[in-house]
Amino acid sequence: MRKDYLQAINSNPDVIANYELLKRIGIWDQIVSLEKEVHAKDKLLEEVVQLFNQASLIGLITFITDRMLDRFVPSYLAFVLQEEGTGDKVHIICFRNLKRVKNLITIESIIPYRQFFSSHSGLMTFDQFAKTIANPKLSEPLNPLNPELVMPLMGLGGMYGFIVFGRKIIDEVYSEQELEYIDWIMKCASVSLQTNIYYQRAIIDSKTQLYTHHFFIKRLQEELSRISRYKEDLALLMFDIDHFKELNDSFGHLAGDRVLFDVAEILKTNIRKSDVAARFGGEEFVVLLISCNKDYAYMIAERIRSRIEDMDFEYLGAKIKVTISAGISFTSQKNVLTEEELIRQSDLALYASKRKGRNCSTLYSGKLDEE
Ligand code: GH3
Ligand code: MG
Ligand code: MG
Repeated sequence: MRKDYLQAINSNPDVIANYELLKRIGIWDQIVSLEKEVHAKDKLLEEVVQLFNQASLIGLITFITDRMLDRFVPSYLAFVLQEEGTGDKVHIICFRNLKRVKNLITIESIIPYRQFFSSHSGLMTFDQFAKTIANPKLSEPLNPLNPELVMPLMGLGGMYGFIVFGRKIIDEVYSEQELEYIDWIMKCASVSLQTNIYYQRAIIDSKTQLYTHHFFIKRLQEELSRISRYKEDLALLMFDIDHFKELNDSFGHLAGDRVLFDVAEILKTNIRKSDVAARFGGEEFVVLLISCNKDYAYMIAERIRSRIEDMDFEYLGAKIKVTISAGISFTSQKNVLTEEELIRQSDLALYASKRKGRNCSTLYSGKLDEE
């Protein structure tokens, strides 16, 4: 805990004896105002630590708006961010009087703003921004926000978004302290937001929006370590799209990418919220079914397989038929496997499905090794 200096000064006999003098020459008021400043900085530092601990994008943004509420209320506030993994799509999060509202602005691309902010970093007034960017096509879309301030979000790879503050609801200009606060908290938020974006990128595969291989293995290890404690049986489904190379060769790689995305959607909609679906590699997927028996695991694999078989995939008007093969392995408290063993057994079962002619599911039985 920081020592309370004012308390210490207050009880110093020399200070008490000379209080009138200190007051008259302004030293006392200076001490009091410095003390207030130190308190404010302490509070800010505490907020920054909490800010860095926010795990989700929305959690982080809500944290920022809640802290703002203690100080001032902008009539509008918008976070304009580059959307993850989908080219140049823009993700906009708007607030009115610090309450989340539907999007009030439309921005097609963040690229021209990025070019501008590469040479103009830091907080600026909207008037300065509009004058310097000198392109109404870029400044006018922000007008519905009644804009007063603009600030870029700068990360290691340059600008990846910006924030627009509307005028304050009580019609005053932002004070020096408020501007200082915005500048400081948003610089910290820039770092935290980017960490958040990188984290999402590490755990979510951009092509399929499923979990990544790395995240899946981590979850698998966690779930396996729970088995012995909670008696929850686990099944691992491994899927591989049949003849995917031919599909790419016939319809092109973009059609292949579209199929990967659609197959991922089918996986997600056919499992429970507590189960984990991930892209294991190229056209291979894995699903971890938590607390289920062998029959249920086989039924889920077959349900996914037949949904894919029945579906008409489409890309630019072309109808594409797709099939998938599945391998299933199973572990329970009676026979706890390591993650390598579980993956290897699903893999062997999957290859048995391929050998049987594809478009089918196989449950691992010890015999598959010798086949
Ligand atoms: P099998 O039925 O035996 O699984 O045959 P296959 O053609 O599916 O298997 P193979 O391993 O020969 O080919 C896999 C193909 O998947 C080759 C590769 O170009 C393609 N692929 C891997 N990742 C992607 C991707 O992200 N997008 C697209 N479009 N294709 C991919
Ligand atoms: Mg494969
Ligand atoms: Mg394949």
